[in-house]
Amino acid sequence: MAVITVEHVRKSFSTLEVLKDISFSLNAGEVLSIIGPSGSGKSTLLRCITNLEQIDRGTITIGGDTLVTDGVDGSAHYADKATISRIRLRVGLVFQNFNLFPHFSVLRNITEAQVHVLKTPKDEAIEQAHELLRKMGLGDKAKAYPYQLSGGQQQRVSIARALALRPEVLCFDEPTSALDPELTGEILSVIKDLAAEHMTMMVVTHEMAFARDISNRVIFMDDGLIVEEGTPQQVFSEAQNERTKRFLNRFSS
Ligand code: ADP
Ligand code: MG
Repeated sequence: MAVITVEHVRKSFSTLEVLKDISFSLNAGEVLSIIGPSGSGKSTLLRCITNLEQIDRGTITIGGDTLVTDGVDGSAHYADKATISRIRLRVGLVFQNFNLFPHFSVLRNITEAQVHVLKTPKDEAIEQAHELLRKMGLGDKAKAYPYQLSGGQQQRVSIARALALRPEVLCFDEPTSALDPELTGEILSVIKDLAAEHMTMMVVTHEMAFARDISNRVIFMDDGLIVEEGTPQQVFSEAQNERTKRFLNRFSS
């Protein structure tokens, strides 16, 4: 069953068309990796799905509710505010640069949205935060501030924060690219664990071996288009498109 359906999505920043007729769907329990060169529109796509950016044309459906669709005048027509708020909670996003609140403790970074957005009672939110921190191997860091943590630890806090809102889908935008190479593995292993629990995920990554290993499906984007889509075997070993082959060649030396 599709949790996210994206149909004919177009998005420009002034005269630059960044997404050019993007269509795909994400099924429950599936891990979809998105690979492609810098500037191909991967982050913009995740930001449109999480409603941090608005599209110009097309349809996005999340968990059976339509976030946006083409109106009669041909421009994108968004759902009402209440529907958008409800839909937004279904999709979490983990950013490249963690985006933690620097002046909040680790614990408060995780409980803040639970308490203010989900209206979870504070003691319940705190209990859940401790549980998620333990799961992320950070049981002793609740009182720490982000600056006291390594990049890998900060990224694990931001994953805990996203999970605290109990999203149906978790999106990652190059979750390891701001990390020193020796810290990359700890984040990849957290994502692997989530995949083993059948968390539905979309992962934008430059870690090709990882994408190959955890994904059910892989999309290769270039210049605002989905150039290739298939199983890891199809995309990494049997790529049909020259652009895909050229891109992958850069990683295989
Ligand atoms: P990727 O994540 O694949 O590197 P992005 O989605 O970040 O690609 O960017 C795609 C293109 O859109 C790039 O040319 C980028 O400069 C441009 N872009 C992204 N965000 C904005 C913005 N807020 N305003 C103007 N141009 C943007
Ligand atoms: Mg990006």
